[in-house]
Formats: sequence, C-alpha cells, structure tokens
Amino acid sequence: QQLTNKQIWGLNFVQATLPKRSPFSHKGTHGKGVIIGGSLEMPGSITMAAKAALRSGIGLLTVATVQEAISSIAAQCTEATFHRLAGEHGTIAKQPMDLSGYDVCLIGMGMGRSAQSSTFTKQLLEETELPVVVDADGLNHIKDHLELLSKRKAPTILTPHPGEMATLLKVSVAEVVNHPFQVAKDFAKAYGVYLVLKGTYTIITTPEGKQWVNTTGNAGLAKGGSGDTLAGIIMAMIAQNQSLPAAIANSCFIHGKAAELLVEQSHSSYDLLATDVIEAIPSVIRTFL
Ligand code: AMP
Ligand code: MG
Repeated sequence: QQLTNKQIWGLNFVQATLPKRSPFSHKGTHGKGVIIGGSLEMPGSITMAAKAALRSGIGLLTVATVQEAISSIAAQCTEATFHRLAGEHGTIAKQPMDLSGYDVCLIGMGMGRSAQSSTFTKQLLEETELPVVVDADGLNHIKDHLELLSKRKAPTILTPHPGEMATLLKVSVAEVVNHPFQVAKDFAKAYGVYLVLKGTYTIITTPEGKQWVNTTGNAGLAKGGSGDTLAGIIMAMIAQNQSLPAAIANSCFIHGKAAELLVEQSHSSYDLLATDVIEAIPSVIRTFL
C-alpha cells in the first residue's frame, strides 16, 4: 500500500504490516531486547515498559537496572532476565555496558536525572550500533547533546510528550502544540531520528520527514505510566523485524486501541491504569490475526 504524507495510520495499515508469526519460529526469531532504566525510587515505570514489551511479542527480554530495583521488577515480570548495573545512591552509575547479542535497546524510564546516569545514556548512544528507543529521563539526559544523535550509525527513536519535546528544542510547550507537524518534521530531519510526538493525536515522523498520525486512544491514557507502556510496545515491535515506521505506528495504534477497548467494555477514563492497558494488549492484537 502506498503511504502518503500526514496520513492517519489506520487499521488497514496495521493489518498489512504486522508480521505473521511462523509456526517454525523460536524465541530468537522474535528478537532480543534490553530495557535500561529504573532506580530505587522509581522501579514502576520500567516494570510497565517491560510488561508491555512481554505482552507485545518480544522473544527475549532483559531488564538492566540497579540492584535495589531488581527484586520488585522481577516479582512482576516473571519472563524477563536481569542485568545488574552498578549504582550510586540507588540510581545507575557511569559504566560501560556490553550490548552485544541484543537486537534493540530502550533507555530512560525511571533512571532519574543524576549526572552519572546522564553520562551512561550519552555513552550508550555514542557506542552502540543497535536501534535505541529513548524515553522519559533519557530524553532529558540528551537535551544538551543533540549532536550525538546525528552521529549515530543505527536508528534512534525518541518518544517525547509535548513537554519533553519543548525541553529538547528549548522552546515553549505552546510552540510545540501549536505547530506539532512542523516542529516534529524539522527536528527529525535535523537530527536524523524517528520522532514519536505523543498526545491525543500522536505524530510519527521519520528521519526523512514522512509523517503519520495515530488517532486511537482516549483520556484514560492521561496518567503516569502510559508513555512507559507505549515505549515497551515500541521496543517489542522493533525487535520483531518490522519496518521502523510500521513498528512505531502499529505500537501507537495498539496502545490507544487497548485503552479504547477497556473504556468501551469495563473501565472508564477515570479509573483506567497503565497496567490495565498492558493487560488489554492481547485483546487488541488478536483482532488483527
Ligand atoms: P507520557 O506522557 O509519556 O506518559 O505518555 C502519555 C501517553 O498517553 C502517550 O502515548 C499519549 O499519546 C497518550 N495520551 C495521553 N493523554 C491522551 C489523551 N487525552 N488521548 C489520547 N491519548 C493520550
Ligand atoms: Mg513519559
């Protein structure tokens, strides 16, 4: 199907691009991802990202975090394995991390804003040639080092909400929400990144400046944890060898559809939680198969 600029990413695109799973597949077929983040005081966001990735079909998942966060995350993510990162005061300290063997990396949620975790993030982006999804605190860590992004040899996917986008660009949030398409396109092209500018309508922009809009979702997603859930889905979809725009846009579609299904069936936008959205991912994906 020919896709044109500024097009709504609809159900027909999801059905056309979501990879069919072969009966002869094995866990390696579906990709190996690592999520880096979390801290003593913020183990929840990375837990949600990990649970969402596991519910979105990734073959193998490792969570890399500080010692203090592992047991609480492990209690909720039975299927994940763990990589213990050196910490300082409960947050990630500067250290090299060997990412060989992984297909994709997600970094940022719950890692906090310490100088050490910032150095860790910049170093990882400089050194790894894997596709890297950067969200939340990870975005804050790179705001003064955007030139890093242009130098990367592998794809970078940034997932800011308008506030984070404004921080990256050093403009007001009003500037972002008044001109979201233009702002997103200029940024994605300038730094050679895939940009997911989140909101009621989420705009997905490629490094070449192609754009799609996701319109699924509802105000039940206007809660802490929604973005972490989306980032986990995106990482899992990238791990499964989809074209990057399709992987990202399908993730946004599924995330929003899960919220819609819940509000239609059993929840309201008041009570909906990110963890409910994660548990509704299966009901959405099975409708595409
Ligand atoms: P974050 O702010 O990082 O937690 O991300 C919020 C997530 O929820 C993004 O995927 C948004 O697109 C989505 N979201 C937040 N509020 C709404 C809304 N009112 N309608 C639809 N989606 C929303
Ligand atoms: Mg967020």
